[in-house]
Amino acid sequence: MNKTDSEGLKVGTLVVGAGIVGTTIAEQLQCRGHDVMLLDRDEPGRGCSFGNAGHFATDVVLPLANMQTILSLPKIIRDPLGPLSIRWSYLPKILPWLARFAVAALPHNARASCDSLRALNGRSIESYDRLLKRTGLTDLMTKNGALTVYEAAASIDANAGSVALLKRFGVDVELKTGDEIRELEPALSQKVAGGLYFPKTAHSVNPFRLVSALAEVFRAQGGAVVQGEVVKISPREGGGCDVILNDARRLCADRVIVATGAWSKPLAAQLGYRVPLDTERGYHLMLPESDCAVSRPLVSYERAFVMTPMEEGLRLAGTVELAGLDAEPNYQRADILFQHAQALLPQASREGATQWMGFRPSLPDSLPVIGAAPKHRDIYFAFGHQHLGLTQAAVTAELVADLVEGKVPEIDLNPYAISRFGLL
Ligand SMILES: Cc1cc2nc3c(=O)[nH]c(=O)nc-3n(C[C@H](O)[C@H](O)[C@H](O)COP(=O)(O)OP(=O)(O)OC[C@H]3O[C@@H](n4cnc5c(N)ncnc54)[C@H](O)[C@@H]3O)c2cc1C
Repeated sequence: MNKTDSEGLKVGTLVVGAGIVGTTIAEQLQCRGHDVMLLDRDEPGRGCSFGNAGHFATDVVLPLANMQTILSLPKIIRDPLGPLSIRWSYLPKILPWLARFAVAALPHNARASCDSLRALNGRSIESYDRLLKRTGLTDLMTKNGALTVYEAAASIDANAGSVALLKRFGVDVELKTGDEIRELEPALSQKVAGGLYFPKTAHSVNPFRLVSALAEVFRAQGGAVVQGEVVKISPREGGGCDVILNDARRLCADRVIVATGAWSKPLAAQLGYRVPLDTERGYHLMLPESDCAVSRPLVSYERAFVMTPMEEGLRLAGTVELAGLDAEPNYQRADILFQHAQALLPQASREGATQWMGFRPSLPDSLPVIGAAPKHRDIYFAFGHQHLGLTQAAVTAELVADLVEGKVPEIDLNPYAISRFGLL
């Protein structure tokens, strides 16, 4: 398939980054007949896609950047058990991102982001249905809905309006009392006073296995999965790109797709595209011995974290830590999740628990970058899926493949353009 000459290994389409986003893109292009290499410095699925909450969260159409988030920040930031923490030494670096986040939260901007999230999320499950059926991996998506639970009656009142709003935005949602919630999930404690039931969402019982199994199918069908770290992408005058790896290997690709998650900023920058990408670090605590008989993702509204039943136990996941890509993990943030979980699922057990930290790739307007590089042919970007990379990967893959093939994508991709930040 690939030949080497003095210019390096010849590659058709090179997908850089084998997280859920890059792997679904590689598979999608392969199934459309392209010759594809999937390249990662690590084994597929070891980045952020390894440890997420596994929630195909199509109901999340209200962007994180909204006025409610901004107004609640002073309270959240003072709470040591709270869902957000900032490493103060990182504050000067992330200030410009925070400033853009505040602008994105203004009502008319948040409304535009909401429309763009809906456009992706509304196609998410159908895209996964196609992908998982095609690859024989339907066991990796469980369609059993999800619950957002409230402990305080005041939260229910405060969110009564958002139910109507979500319905208006096409999200299937039902308001439930505490008892109705416990009928659906009997393991939940009496603390739960009510909640929202989202019958049309789904979850993955093993997000890492999802990526590795997809990569395996891709490999079995003739795709190349290669380990290597890209340090430079040089567009060639006549088309295609030279790609240099950190061990001096050289690839000569007809086209390159950059899907390197939270690490995409330097690769975009060396091509001349400045983008305000940062990371919202998140944590999980895996509870292998928690026999809680939970059957769907449970999102705690007040505590802002998710509990998802998985093959290897109950996964508690969430929290946002603004500390960049280099700071050591603070696993107390993962441990905090257990205290929260115990309040809602008293049978939860910490025995054998494992901690994990991952880097969400986040842009300040809560939208990813999906699109062709405006100044170069043969280069495409697909990164920055923030809290929704699992949810939006399969639809992103279909959109990128349409672009590569010169087809008009089903949705307007302007809201996701890398140029939208006015920094090029
Ligand atoms: C705690 C937590 C819970 C979450 N829960 C959910 C959820 O329930 N639902 C949901 O939809 N999303 C969730 N997310 C978000 C989701 O996990 C991410 O959006 C998604 O994993 C991003 O996928 P990706 O493929 O873009 O990035 P990654 O999975 O990080 O993959 C990027 C890959 O690029 C590789 N790479 C980077 N630089 C280079 C280079 N120069 N050369 C070669 N390879 C390189 C990395 O090794 C990595 O494998 C959660 C995230 C966290 C942290």
